[in-house]
Amino acid sequence: MVEEKKLVDKLFNDIHFSRGLATYGLNEIIDLLKRNVVATILITDDTNLRKIDITCRRCQNVQSEILERPKVIPRVQELLSQPCPSCKSMDLESSERDIVDYLDLISGQTGAKVEVITGATEYGAMLSSIGKVGAFLRYNPNQ
Ligand SMILES: [Zn+2]
Repeated sequence: MVEEKKLVDKLFNDIHFSRGLATYGLNEIIDLLKRNVVATILITDDTNLRKIDITCRRCQNVQSEILERPKVIPRVQELLSQPCPSCKSMDLESSERDIVDYLDLISGQTGAKVEVITGATEYGAMLSSIGKVGAFLRYNPNQ
Protein backbone atom coordinates (compact mmCIF):
# COMPACT_ATOMS: atom_id res chain seq x y z
CA MET A 1 0.00 0.00 0.00
CA VAL A 2 2.82 2.41 0.91
CA GLU A 3 4.55 1.41 -2.30
CA GLU A 4 1.35 2.05 -4.30
CA LYS A 5 0.98 5.51 -2.76
CA LYS A 6 4.60 6.35 -3.60
CA LEU A 7 4.09 5.29 -7.20
CA VAL A 8 0.96 7.43 -7.62
CA ASP A 9 2.61 10.41 -5.92
CA LYS A 10 5.62 10.06 -8.21
CA LEU A 11 3.35 9.77 -11.26
CA PHE A 12 1.59 13.06 -10.46
CA ASN A 13 4.89 14.73 -9.67
CA ASP A 14 6.42 13.54 -12.94
CA ILE A 15 3.36 14.52 -14.99
CA HIS A 16 3.65 18.05 -13.64
CA PHE A 17 7.40 18.56 -13.40
CA SER A 18 9.25 16.01 -15.50
CA ARG A 19 8.06 17.07 -18.92
CA GLY A 20 7.31 14.19 -21.24
CA LEU A 21 8.49 11.37 -18.95
CA ALA A 22 5.10 10.48 -17.52
CA THR A 23 1.68 10.41 -19.10
CA TYR A 24 -1.88 9.17 -18.72
CA GLY A 25 -4.74 7.99 -20.92
CA LEU A 26 -5.24 4.37 -21.92
CA ASN A 27 -5.08 4.70 -25.70
CA GLU A 28 -1.92 6.79 -25.68
CA ILE A 29 -0.26 4.41 -23.22
CA ILE A 30 -1.09 1.33 -25.31
CA ASP A 31 0.37 3.09 -28.35
CA LEU A 32 3.55 4.03 -26.43
CA LEU A 33 3.75 0.54 -24.96
CA LYS A 34 3.79 -1.01 -28.43
CA ARG A 35 6.56 1.45 -29.39
CA ASN A 36 8.59 0.28 -26.36
CA VAL A 37 8.51 3.74 -24.73
CA VAL A 38 6.76 2.70 -21.51
CA ALA A 39 8.78 1.67 -18.44
CA THR A 40 5.97 1.16 -15.92
CA ILE A 41 2.18 1.30 -16.15
CA LEU A 42 -0.02 2.14 -13.17
CA ILE A 43 -3.63 0.99 -13.45
CA THR A 44 -6.39 0.79 -10.87
CA ASP A 45 -7.91 -2.60 -10.06
CA ASP A 46 -11.43 -1.32 -10.83
CA THR A 47 -11.27 -0.08 -14.44
CA ASN A 48 -14.00 -2.53 -15.49
CA LEU A 49 -12.47 -2.50 -18.97
CA ARG A 50 -12.08 -5.50 -21.26
CA LYS A 51 -10.39 -5.93 -24.60
CA ILE A 52 -12.29 -7.81 -27.27
CA ASP A 53 -10.89 -9.34 -30.45
CA ILE A 54 -13.03 -10.47 -33.35
CA THR A 55 -10.91 -12.74 -35.54
CA CYS A 56 -11.82 -13.87 -39.06
CA ARG A 57 -11.16 -17.58 -39.43
CA ARG A 58 -10.71 -17.20 -43.18
CA CYS A 59 -8.24 -14.27 -43.49
CA GLN A 60 -7.13 -13.84 -39.85
CA ASN A 61 -8.17 -10.15 -39.86
CA VAL A 62 -8.59 -8.99 -36.25
CA GLN A 63 -10.93 -6.22 -35.07
CA SER A 64 -10.02 -5.04 -31.56
CA GLU A 65 -11.83 -2.74 -29.18
CA ILE A 66 -11.54 -1.83 -25.50
CA LEU A 67 -14.93 -1.58 -23.82
CA GLU A 68 -16.55 -1.23 -20.43
CA ARG A 69 -17.77 -4.59 -19.24
CA PRO A 70 -21.55 -3.98 -19.69
CA LYS A 71 -20.99 -3.03 -23.34
CA VAL A 72 -18.98 -6.13 -24.22
CA ILE A 73 -21.72 -8.65 -24.99
CA PRO A 74 -23.91 -6.40 -27.21
CA ARG A 75 -20.86 -5.11 -29.10
CA VAL A 76 -19.46 -8.62 -29.66
CA GLN A 77 -22.85 -9.77 -30.95
CA GLU A 78 -23.00 -6.74 -33.25
CA LEU A 79 -19.52 -7.38 -34.66
CA LEU A 80 -20.20 -11.11 -35.09
CA SER A 81 -23.34 -10.32 -37.09
CA GLN A 82 -21.37 -8.25 -39.61
CA PRO A 83 -19.09 -9.73 -42.30
CA CYS A 84 -15.31 -9.50 -41.97
CA PRO A 85 -14.35 -5.99 -43.19
CA SER A 86 -11.41 -7.48 -45.07
CA CYS A 87 -12.79 -10.56 -46.89
CA LYS A 88 -16.57 -10.43 -46.19
CA SER A 89 -16.54 -13.87 -44.56
CA MET A 90 -19.07 -14.49 -41.77
CA ASP A 91 -16.78 -17.10 -40.19
CA LEU A 92 -15.75 -14.99 -37.19
CA GLU A 93 -14.80 -15.83 -33.63
CA SER A 94 -14.55 -13.59 -30.58
CA SER A 95 -12.29 -13.56 -27.56
CA GLU A 96 -12.01 -11.17 -24.65
CA ARG A 97 -9.68 -10.53 -21.75
CA ASP A 98 -9.37 -8.18 -18.82
CA ILE A 99 -7.49 -4.97 -19.62
CA VAL A 100 -4.82 -5.73 -16.98
CA ASP A 101 -4.17 -9.13 -18.60
CA TYR A 102 -3.90 -7.43 -21.98
CA LEU A 103 -1.44 -4.82 -20.66
CA ASP A 104 0.55 -7.62 -18.99
CA LEU A 105 0.71 -9.43 -22.32
CA ILE A 106 2.10 -6.48 -24.30
CA SER A 107 4.35 -5.45 -21.40
CA GLY A 108 5.88 -8.91 -21.35
CA GLN A 109 6.97 -8.39 -24.95
CA THR A 110 8.65 -5.03 -24.26
CA GLY A 111 9.98 -5.46 -20.72
CA ALA A 112 7.58 -2.92 -19.20
CA LYS A 113 6.12 -3.41 -15.73
CA VAL A 114 2.44 -3.26 -14.77
CA GLU A 115 1.59 -2.06 -11.26
CA VAL A 116 -2.02 -2.57 -10.17
CA ILE A 117 -3.20 0.16 -7.79
CA THR A 118 -6.04 -0.39 -5.30
CA GLY A 119 -8.86 1.78 -6.64
CA ALA A 120 -10.69 2.12 -3.31
CA THR A 121 -7.97 4.25 -1.69
CA GLU A 122 -7.16 7.96 -1.66
CA TYR A 123 -4.32 7.52 -4.14
CA GLY A 124 -6.47 5.09 -6.19
CA ALA A 125 -9.01 7.92 -6.47
CA MET A 126 -6.20 10.25 -7.60
CA LEU A 127 -5.31 7.83 -10.39
CA SER A 128 -9.01 7.41 -11.25
CA SER A 129 -9.27 11.19 -11.67
CA ILE A 130 -6.91 11.03 -14.66
CA GLY A 131 -8.60 8.05 -16.27
CA LYS A 132 -7.38 5.18 -14.06
CA VAL A 133 -4.23 4.59 -16.09
CA GLY A 134 -0.85 6.33 -16.04
CA ALA A 135 2.67 5.46 -17.10
CA PHE A 136 6.31 6.29 -16.55
CA LEU A 137 8.19 6.49 -19.85
CA ARG A 138 11.73 5.47 -20.75
CA TYR A 139 12.21 8.74 -22.67
CA ASN A 140 10.17 11.66 -23.95
CA PRO A 141 8.60 10.39 -27.20
CA ASN A 142 8.11 13.96 -28.45
CA GLN A 143 11.77 14.94 -28.41
ZN1 LIG B 1 -11.72 -12.12 -43.30
